[in-house]
Amino acid sequence: MSKQKFETVCIQGGYKPKNGEPRQVPIYQSTTFKYDTSEDMAKLFDLEASGYFYTRLQNPTNDLVAAKIAEMEGGTAAMLTSSGQAANFFAVFNLANCGDHVIASSTIYGGTFNLFAVTMKKMGIDFTFVDPYISEEELDKAFKPNTKCVFGETIANPALVCFDIEKFAKVAHKHGVPLIVDNTFPTPFFCRPFEWGADIVTHSTTKYLDGHGSGVGGCIVDSGKFDWMAHADKFPGLCTPDDSYHGITYAEKFGNAGAFITKCTAQLMRDFGSIQSPQNAYYLNLGLESLAVRMERHASNALAMAEYLSKNDKVAWVKYPGLKGDKDYELAQKYMPKGTCGVLSFGIKGGRKEAEAFMKQLKIIQIETHVADAKSCCLNPATATHRQLTDQQLRECGISPELIRLSCGIEHIDDLIADVQNALDNM
Ligand SMILES: *Cc1c(COP(=O)(O)O)cnc(C)c1O
Repeated sequence: MSKQKFETVCIQGGYKPKNGEPRQVPIYQSTTFKYDTSEDMAKLFDLEASGYFYTRLQNPTNDLVAAKIAEMEGGTAAMLTSSGQAANFFAVFNLANCGDHVIASSTIYGGTFNLFAVTMKKMGIDFTFVDPYISEEELDKAFKPNTKCVFGETIANPALVCFDIEKFAKVAHKHGVPLIVDNTFPTPFFCRPFEWGADIVTHSTTKYLDGHGSGVGGCIVDSGKFDWMAHADKFPGLCTPDDSYHGITYAEKFGNAGAFITKCTAQLMRDFGSIQSPQNAYYLNLGLESLAVRMERHASNALAMAEYLSKNDKVAWVKYPGLKGDKDYELAQKYMPKGTCGVLSFGIKGGRKEAEAFMKQLKIIQIETHVADAKSCCLNPATATHRQLTDQQLRECGISPELIRLSCGIEHIDDLIADVQNALDNM
């Protein structure tokens, strides 16, 4: 049979019920699983047989949903985590330990930046943050003998800067390390980072994959393409026996297709326990079923809104990578020709006061600390998440006081534009 189209995988991927089994993914709301003999269970503990024994490590509902996301991304293995934060932490910590070094794009999600620059730094991991527009030559110079991976976001939240995946993959591979890409904003419907050389993909499934603001979650997907054994000196955790797990050498036993996710599950999920609840995985799967149709609408709404705003007198500037003339338009066309995402940002002429006055008048678009779900929402960081900062401090972290982040939902675009028009007229 020919390879199924993305829209079909959204519905049919992962779970393949057998005769008489439930049509929808069942929720295995059980912490534990029963076995007839101790020998049966021992085989699972030794990773000699695959199966379930305790939901902190693996749960069938989660695995079915992870398998669908792996299929969507074109990867070989995947695991769900309790949040996007846990996914990014695990993906990096599975490779880099105390004394190691990681290169990351500077325009990443604030939560990830803090995780890397503050919390993982305390764990002894050193991060270098580079400008995403850095030249290959400069990027080359950022590598150290102890560099273990490179990290970026396909479209950065909230900077909406595009990440040149091919450029970063090329230099990372030259240095024998994998590229990790957080693909939360475009989702695999618009961009499949593995096709451009990325090795590991992460998601905050809280955003478009769930799509309805119903459950916090994360996911890690492995392309199965990185050859760990060819760089065994850099990755002893994958290429030498794990004494904490029955002396298994992951890269030998599970090959390139399975080593990364198996190690991540057997070590990090076992020890940190950031599992997604099976109930949330079920909600996530409902979101996945409609991902393709939702993303088309999110992107067309955002593009129409960006075009409308860019022509309005009260608007100082608009940032949307799908908008012609945007600094990232060319990169977006290359990596995401069908569309980018539903999030854009813009500046009201004036400052905090004007932004606040505008937002007060909105009727449909709600003020929320969230993005990327079916319901349109917006946020002015200067009066919300960053309200303790002065205008000067704000500018230093790349956020102007008048910036409004607008996440276009899947309502009718006429109503969204009318809401914005009304607010601009009456602010
Ligand atoms: C929201 C977000 C995260 C963090 O995910 P949570 O599910 O909130 O933990 C990570 N990366 C990106 C790009 C995000 O938008």
